Amino acid sequence: MKSMEDLSEPLENYIKEIYELEEIRGRAKVTDLIEAFQVSPGTISKAISKLEKMGLIERKNGLKLTPEGKSIAERLIRSHRLSERMLTDMLGLDWIRSHEIAHKLEHIWPDDVLEIIDSKLDKPSTCPHGHPIPGRKVELGALLSEVGKGKYKVIMIIREEEWILREAERAGLFPGREIEVLGSNGEKVYLRVMGKEYALSVSIAREVMISDR
Ligand SMILES: [Zn+2]
Ligand SMILES: [Zn+2]
Repeated sequence: MKSMEDLSEPLENYIKEIYELEEIRGRAKVTDLIEAFQVSPGTISKAISKLEKMGLIERKNGLKLTPEGKSIAERLIRSHRLSERMLTDMLGLDWIRSHEIAHKLEHIWPDDVLEIIDSKLDKPSTCPHGHPIPGRKVELGALLSEVGKGKYKVIMIIREEEWILREAERAGLFPGREIEVLGSNGEKVYLRVMGKEYALSVSIAREVMISDR
C-alpha cells in the first residue's frame, strides 16, 4: 500500500475530486476535473497518467478510483470533513474558513487522533456543508435549480467554494433547513427560508442539493 507521503498535494486533490464526483454524480469525467481545477487539459492528462501508473485510478467509462485510490481518498476526505466539524462545532468558526483550514488539517491527524475527534463530535454523519463522512450514509436528492414549487429540505452545498457558501449562507441554506421554492425563471430561483424571501441565482441553486421533506 502506498503511503500518502508518496503523493504530491495536487495529485491528492485530483483523487479527492474524483471521489467526490463519483459520490455525487456517480462518475467522474476528465472534463469535470478540467472544470473543477481550471487547469489545461494537458496538465490534467499528465496527472491522470501518473495516477494511473501508481495504480490509484483507471480509465473505465470515465475515471474510476482503484480500491487503493479509494482508500487514500476516503482517509483524506474523512479527515477533511471531521476537521471541518471540529472547527465549526468546537471552535465556532464559519463554514468558509473551516473548509479552508481543513485543507491543511486533513493531512496532519494520525488515525488514533482522528478517532478521538470523531467520538468527541459524537460521530457526526456529515461535514457542516452536508457531505457524508465516508462510511456514513446520506440520502442524495435533487438540485435546487431543477425542482418545481414546493417545500424541501437542504441536504448539502455541493462545491464548498467561498462565493457559493457566502450566497448560500446569506439565504440561510444550511443542511437540515426547510425551504420553500416559490418559482423560478431560468435566471433566479425564488425561495422562502425562515419566513424571508430570497432570489437566488441559478448558478448558486445548482450547487444546492435538496430533498422532498
Ligand atoms: Zn471542505
Ligand atoms: Zn464540508
